[in-house]
Amino acid sequence: MDMKVDKNQIDLDQEKPTREEAMDAVKTLISWAGDNPSREGLIDTPKRVVKAYEEFFAGYNQDPLSTLSKTFEDVQGYDDIVFLRDINIETHCEHHMVPILGVAHVAYLPRDKVVGISKLARVIDIFAKRLQTQETMTMQILETIDQALDPLGTAIMIDAKHQCMTTRGISKPNVSTVTTKFSGLFAEDSELRQRFMGLTQAKG
Ligand SMILES: [Zn+2]
Repeated sequence: MDMKVDKNQIDLDQEKPTREEAMDAVKTLISWAGDNPSREGLIDTPKRVVKAYEEFFAGYNQDPLSTLSKTFEDVQGYDDIVFLRDINIETHCEHHMVPILGVAHVAYLPRDKVVGISKLARVIDIFAKRLQTQETMTMQILETIDQALDPLGTAIMIDAKHQCMTTRGISKPNVSTVTTKFSGLFAEDSELRQRFMGLTQAKG
């Protein structure tokens, strides 16, 4: 776990507003948008939004590193890439608090430890359920895998659409943002990196 995340969690504990305060803030935003928070259709909206936020941002209460603590060493001599393609990503951009939707592709080359596949998807989900930039999230996932599994190398690509670009601002609905990060042998060996890139395209 990097220090920045720890610090955020400490700040959160000290300064966390009450549910009532959070609902009041939603009411203020409804008024700011130009509507009447007391009309029938909106009267329960603050309650719903606050509840939705508990789901959207559940990742602040979860530790990604401990999710990968149960590892396996008996892999019958398997020594090639472990690759996960098209892991669904739903996160929120930290600049506008609107959704970033896309997929992640993750690979690692085991040194001696592997981990349950679903745990890797879980790690991605924990980071996604926080306010994010795509670049930060890409780094955090890679660093967590490196720390937990000490693999020979890790590769990650996130391919996502940012609603702050598609529905507002420059309004470019089809723009995808692609971020990649490589460590260990994936960073050193361009052939291995090409294999990763090829797997992200493969259809099966
Ligand atoms: Zn944004």
